[in-house]
Amino acid sequence: MKRGVLVLVGLGLFVQPLLGWGFYGHKLINRQAVFLLPPEMMIFYKPVIDIITEHAVDPDKRRYIMKEEGPRHYMDMDHYHPWDSIPLSYAAAVKKYGEDTLLQHGIVVWWIQIMTSRLTKAFEKRDKAQIIKLSADLGHYIGDLHVPLHASSNHNGQLTNQQGIHGFWESRIPELFASSSFDLINGKANYIKNLPVELLTIIKQSAIASDSVLLLERTLNDQFRADIKYSYENRNGLVLKQYSTAYSTSYHNMLNGMVERRMRESIKFTASVWYSAWINAGMPDLKALSDKDISTEMIEEWKEMNRSWSLSGSSTNCHN
Ligand SMILES: [Zn+2]
Repeated sequence: MKRGVLVLVGLGLFVQPLLGWGFYGHKLINRQAVFLLPPEMMIFYKPVIDIITEHAVDPDKRRYIMKEEGPRHYMDMDHYHPWDSIPLSYAAAVKKYGEDTLLQHGIVVWWIQIMTSRLTKAFEKRDKAQIIKLSADLGHYIGDLHVPLHASSNHNGQLTNQQGIHGFWESRIPELFASSSFDLINGKANYIKNLPVELLTIIKQSAIASDSVLLLERTLNDQFRADIKYSYENRNGLVLKQYSTAYSTSYHNMLNGMVERRMRESIKFTASVWYSAWINAGMPDLKALSDKDISTEMIEEWKEMNRSWSLSGSSTNCHN
């Protein structure tokens, strides 16, 4: 390689906004969720599985385009105490904390409720494009809800000198191990009786797990030979610095299946939210809907979003 063109890209996530499960993980969650649906829903979702997979990452693309998008992906649980007093509804949370605080520390649990109501309405209206769009978006936010570092203000280890850990846990580990060793089949979609309570339970689990995510990496870092912690890969003239396979394998073993478990739970909960929205809409017949075309407005909206995302410059340095 010519010296002049050597560009070092720092662990992907050192220099960019944090992106939930990474593009790979989010797409996998949406795709797998389709297989947990009952036949009456599968008849609709299966033919559009590639669209639901592809659009699993739209909410992360929107983060580069609109500033309101950011807080919908996380919740700094260390700012919300005591946990038992966190309001179930967004309106009550605004009253208690004020909207500025909420937008600063994240709203994922309330945003999922809002999106689920919209999905229920889309089912009631038999609106094919909106059902697909909202299902894909929901899978994304539910995936984020399950990521421990989306529930901590130390979301990239920046407070403990562990910068890069966010992408390490949610992108590097799944990319290395999901296809070869994760078992993602996890029963069937369940009806969720009390969504707000379930969402708070999950974010609390994520927050508790974030302590181990950080602590175990620090322990490993202290034990591991520094010169083999990272590896360098040449991708199209860019030298990509990343956690080495050896370091990643050790961390994955220390986590004892946590990444796989959180991914399985994301998949199950995504399918369950789609299923519950459909039940709450009165179980409309989706068979008739599956023959319809997706509206041209929606196709245009997707194209426009991708155009804006490309123009934002983030598409070229994304770690997907
Ligand atoms: Zn996200």
